[in-house]
Amino acid sequence: MAQFLRLESSLWQTTTLLLSDGGESVAVDPGVTPEEIENVRRRAEELGAPVRTVLATHSHFDHVCGIGAFPEAQAVMGESTAARLSDGSAARGLAEAAAELDLQWAGELRCDRALAVGRAHRIGPFGAETLALAGHSTCGVGFRFRSLGLLVLGDHVSAAEFPFVYESTAAYRSTLAGLIDLLRNDPPETVASGHGPLLDAAQALAIAEADLDYLHRLRAAVAEALPGGRDAAFAAGLAVEPPRPAWPEFHDESQRGNVEAQLAELREA
Ligand SMILES: [Zn+2]
Repeated sequence: MAQFLRLESSLWQTTTLLLSDGGESVAVDPGVTPEEIENVRRRAEELGAPVRTVLATHSHFDHVCGIGAFPEAQAVMGESTAARLSDGSAARGLAEAAAELDLQWAGELRCDRALAVGRAHRIGPFGAETLALAGHSTCGVGFRFRSLGLLVLGDHVSAAEFPFVYESTAAYRSTLAGLIDLLRNDPPETVASGHGPLLDAAQALAIAEADLDYLHRLRAAVAEALPGGRDAAFAAGLAVEPPRPAWPEFHDESQRGNVEAQLAELREA
């Protein structure tokens, strides 16, 4: 029987999904700490459905660090994510995190199969539609597993953090506008964010709307203060309250990062 379960990391409520059918599993973003990664393997075996596929939502270390522990599985991701592995940026992120968190991950980061984004694919025993999710990173991919009623959104639409804009606020706004449309017109039963609990479509829609409203308020505040100079615009951006708190160690830094991104989009260097 097709089924899925969510496992949560001790770090930032990071989501791992175990999708199982026909005696095998697809592990999505499989664990953060080495213990959690081994737990993913164990849970799959307990279900009688060992991990044959590992799938990454994007290339940030907390989503790809488990891949190396599954050398026997096929490592699958979008082409944009695979590009961050080929150019070395994913490995650099992983090395920095290993040093910072004092963790050691087994095996090699790799991609065995890169998916053209925007098309439907077979991923393990499941059909999946893919959609590009820009804004948080340049390499985010959403996966819709229609037979499971499940939409996987990587680090977008989270109950546990506000938008962290590592690419651009304009791209992030477009992504949210598209997701709001999807959630209204073609809602899944369940939305899985890369951090925080599973959501139903109504909960996800409320979060996406609040996130988009925040990014609109951020743009407006920075644009309005910009004639007064960079410092004034930065202060105005920082005064815009995010829709919900993030973890204390990220809250201020991420808010500043968002303001910097917004400024770079509006102010000539
Ligand atoms: Zn991320």
